Amino acid sequence: MIAIRELRFSYGDGAFGLEVPELRIARGEKVAFIGPSGSGKTTLVYLIAGVLTSKGGSIEVNGVDLSGWSDRQLRDFRISRIGFVFQEFELLDYLSVRDNMLLPYFLNATLELTPKVYAQVEELASSMHLSDKLRRYPKTLSQGEKQRVAICRALTTSPDILIADEPTGNLDSKTADVILSLLLGEVERRQATLLMVTHNHALLDAFDRVIDIQAFARGSQS
Ligand code: ADP
Ligand code: MG
Repeated sequence: MIAIRELRFSYGDGAFGLEVPELRIARGEKVAFIGPSGSGKTTLVYLIAGVLTSKGGSIEVNGVDLSGWSDRQLRDFRISRIGFVFQEFELLDYLSVRDNMLLPYFLNATLELTPKVYAQVEELASSMHLSDKLRRYPKTLSQGEKQRVAICRALTTSPDILIADEPTGNLDSKTADVILSLLLGEVERRQATLLMVTHNHALLDAFDRVIDIQAFARGSQS
């Protein structure tokens, strides 16, 4: 469960801010965030993931209030509890596909690399049709394959919350459809909560709720 109350945020220059009086997202809910470019979609998901810190109000994730946490605490929380899929994939070129999928375990000492984790990576790779690509490096993959690797990486820690920021924004529409249905299938199988930023209105039927972020934006929009 995610509960946001009286959340206030603005960037240092004060030109753009967000105010979210109240937003509650139930466990297992699939929510799409929409809004024009510059309306604050990335800012909001970064606040929920603890990448950015709010200037007031509270964000509770699974009963834990993130406000007042240190950067270090937020980082550990994020890596272990939230899966994040970026529009630009953000894979590391010098790591194999398998090691990219295991990256959260390299970054967070509290996560233990057990045989179960390796088995989980095999299983995820198989469900994302990547079993034969585990020894490859990102440079040798298509865009769609890269994003599937990024989705596997976001799910290896079995997070209860998956956040995806325009994950299909850099893919052609056919590839985007395939990726989205794989992602939704995996989210449903795990009964995870999904927050997805998307520009693609054709996809919105797949979500339980659609939230237009413009309602929260304060200040200039590009
Ligand atoms: P969206 O994801 O909806 O396109 P963003 O959340 O990225 O929008 O950005 C919202 C607004 O905040 C924009 O006006 C953008 O220019 C501004 N912004 C984003 N990042 C920063 C930053 N680091 N410093 C100052 N302003 C920023
Ligand atoms: Mg954005």
